Amino acid sequence: LNRRLAEFGTTIFAEMSALALSTGAINLGQGFPDTDGPEEIREAAVRALRDGRGNQYPPGPGVPELRTAITAHQQRRYGLGYDPDTEVLVTAGATEAIAAALLALVEPGDEVIALEPYYDSYAACIAMAGGRRVPVTLRAHVDEGRFRLDLDELRDAVTDRTRLLLINTPHNPTGTVLTREELAAIAELAVERDLLVVTDEVYEHLVFDDAEHVPLATFPGMRERTVSISSSGKTFSFTGWKVGWVTGAPELVTAVRSAKQYLTYVSAGPFQYAVAEALSLPESYFTDFRADMLAKRDLLAAGLAEAGFRVFRPSGTYFITTDIRPLGETDGFAFCRNLPERAGVVAIPNAVFYDHREEGAPFVRFAFCKRTGVLAEAVKRLGAAT
Ligand code: PMP
Ligand code: GLN
Repeated sequence: LNRRLAEFGTTIFAEMSALALSTGAINLGQGFPDTDGPEEIREAAVRALRDGRGNQYPPGPGVPELRTAITAHQQRRYGLGYDPDTEVLVTAGATEAIAAALLALVEPGDEVIALEPYYDSYAACIAMAGGRRVPVTLRAHVDEGRFRLDLDELRDAVTDRTRLLLINTPHNPTGTVLTREELAAIAELAVERDLLVVTDEVYEHLVFDDAEHVPLATFPGMRERTVSISSSGKTFSFTGWKVGWVTGAPELVTAVRSAKQYLTYVSAGPFQYAVAEALSLPESYFTDFRADMLAKRDLLAAGLAEAGFRVFRPSGTYFITTDIRPLGETDGFAFCRNLPERAGVVAIPNAVFYDHREEGAPFVRFAFCKRTGVLAEAVKRLGAAT
């Protein structure tokens, strides 16, 4: 392994899912649903395969049906108008979108600011691009029950070498949804310091209570400097299909496309037609999905609190971050390695998402995108073991 990648090794998600398999524990680690997405969308994929749509290399930017469905979704939900021919790129999941965006936009030595804890592929992709990551830590505020961005810390992190802000909201793993005010401040900073922004919005449809997802691209001066990323994996419960996308100004999308061409050339064809149909589902699909996940959140949050964890109730995503110190534990790594044996449950130690490992040490993440019975059983086991 070369020096750029040496520190990354095996992703925690593979490690913890393997641990779940080998121990037979309930996997609340890696974030994937245990129920597949809508039957009619699966049928749409089968139809595309049978009809021979997308079985040979589809167009580089994505099939026109999907690009049009993506722009219609951005317009309908956020009032963001994009041209499906020049301002959209279909990618192999959000993961490839992140990689291609960083490879396309970062020069060796450029600083990239990312919110810490950060999704693990950010660090690896910044490194592959030859950039330097500059983490800005979301701090745990017990009184507010959430992790919050300190805007002064963000401002202080910007230097003359800063090229790009990599923002993720709703935020994995903390469940924080940046507020309109916070986003406005980030936008002002980006404009003032002439920064590019890449926003990872894969959990855009998973926001709860009175939280609201507002794309950074909607703020003044942002459309031309923002690459927005989303994916069908989370919204439609097809994480295995790996269909994601990028929207942004033509120059930015063209740049990302240049990198994508030499990573995967194109993304898998038949699934693109099915995701086009998924994006066109009636609004009730999205509200039902959100309501279902909200009920799951409440079930797991209550169970974890009952078991003695300090729970940071998420406003978005399908993850709950907990603090294990009330259980008399301080090391999330040790806690998670031991948890399958102790309780028959797998979780993720948030420390892997930090450069400041000590800051992340007491936090552990549980996924709630699982059937109610599975969550209830996990809660029972955790209650008995803590
Ligand atoms: N970004 C975040 C914040 C994620 O949690 C994930 C996990 N799926 C991804 C990107 C990757 O998305 P995809 O599966 O579409 O590649
Ligand atoms: N995004 C998912 C998570 O945070 C997992 C994706 C992956 O395994 N790379 O759990």
